[in-house]
Amino acid sequence: MIKQNITEYNNVWVFIEHNKGKVELVSLQLLSKAKEIARDLHCDVCAFTVGDNVKPLENEVAEYGAKKFYIIENSALKDYRTEPWRDSISHLISKNKPAVVLIGATALGRDLAGTVATVLKAGLTADTTALDIDPETKNLLMTRPTFGGNLMATIFCPDNRPQMSTVRPGVFEAIKNPSKMEIIKDKFSITEDEIVKKIIEKVQTGEDKLNLGFYDIIVAGGKGMGKKENFKLLENLANVLGGTWAVSRQAVQMGWAHHTRQVGQTGQTVHPKIYIAAGISGAIQHLAGMKSSDIIVAINTDDQAPIFEIATYGIVGDALKVLPKLTKTFKGKLKI
Ligand SMILES: Cc1cc2nc3c(=O)[nH]c(=O)nc-3n(C[C@H](O)[C@H](O)[C@H](O)COP(=O)(O)OP(=O)(O)OC[C@H]3O[C@@H](n4cnc5c(N)ncnc54)[C@H](O)[C@@H]3O)c2cc1C
Repeated sequence: MIKQNITEYNNVWVFIEHNKGKVELVSLQLLSKAKEIARDLHCDVCAFTVGDNVKPLENEVAEYGAKKFYIIENSALKDYRTEPWRDSISHLISKNKPAVVLIGATALGRDLAGTVATVLKAGLTADTTALDIDPETKNLLMTRPTFGGNLMATIFCPDNRPQMSTVRPGVFEAIKNPSKMEIIKDKFSITEDEIVKKIIEKVQTGEDKLNLGFYDIIVAGGKGMGKKENFKLLENLANVLGGTWAVSRQAVQMGWAHHTRQVGQTGQTVHPKIYIAAGISGAIQHLAGMKSSDIIVAINTDDQAPIFEIATYGIVGDALKVLPKLTKTFKGKLKI
């Protein structure tokens, strides 16, 4: 590979994923993290997106600290399709040469980042869980779990730009940091006739839409819940507390819940105010998705279960008995 002149590349770019005129939370989380990275690199945070009529996104993007917002608007880019989005975004990046490009590791982001990185001949670190700047080399250090979550690997890209990474929703916090923002509209042109793939129908199930990261309270259950019907106990407590319920991968594999409710390395990453783990052993891959929760309450029959090592409060007992008692008690206390 021909060595690039990496000094031509500047600024930290964040892809703004959007749905029905709203910015996806992960993009706001990445803008906040990008601010820290840009401080270390003495450069600016820029946002970028494509779509049709993206004006409603502008205020929110400015509130989270972007200095510039690069936009390609075109009716042919209204809905996500890999090739036209890949081509328009590769064009934006090649033209403006950002040093760092961050994209949310959502279904859309994972598809997009891979194809854009291929076009740009850039490296891509997928599913990053930590981002730092090396104080000496100024390279972006991208850390992610490897070997089934048993090791953390830090990856960097010394000779090529941009340094690209997808980051899972919920890893960083979205913190407002308003900034005066310049809108830069690019005239990249594409017509519907040039796009081979056509969207015939869009189908979205209720579960597909679930974003566990929105909830302050999560009541999660694992294999120790015993059978599918018992998951109602999680839902009952979650409803009383104003939260939602989630599961471990074992529960998904047993067919007791949909994968969108899974927390962990191959599920969603969450940091709610309260995470209640019932009948979950505390495998490292599960902890990867919830260990930064403010308060962790573990309910387990085995007092040696690893989950107790990170729990704020531990209840040694049968979750099938403890959960209904908690629900009843909170119902009384909260007068529901
Ligand atoms: C590459 C890879 C990725 C993975 N990704 C994920 C992931 O994203 N999320 C994830 O969760 N896992 C993931 N796993 C799986 C992970 O290693 C564990 O197998 C899984 O988390 C275990 O789920 P569990 O705690 O529900 O089940 P178990 O480990 O079987 O634990 C069940 C627990 O329930 C307790 N128990 C039993 N009966 C009761 C009762 N009546 N009341 C209370 N407690 C009871 C037991 O003491 C035990 O501690 C991954 C694994 C690999 C290799």
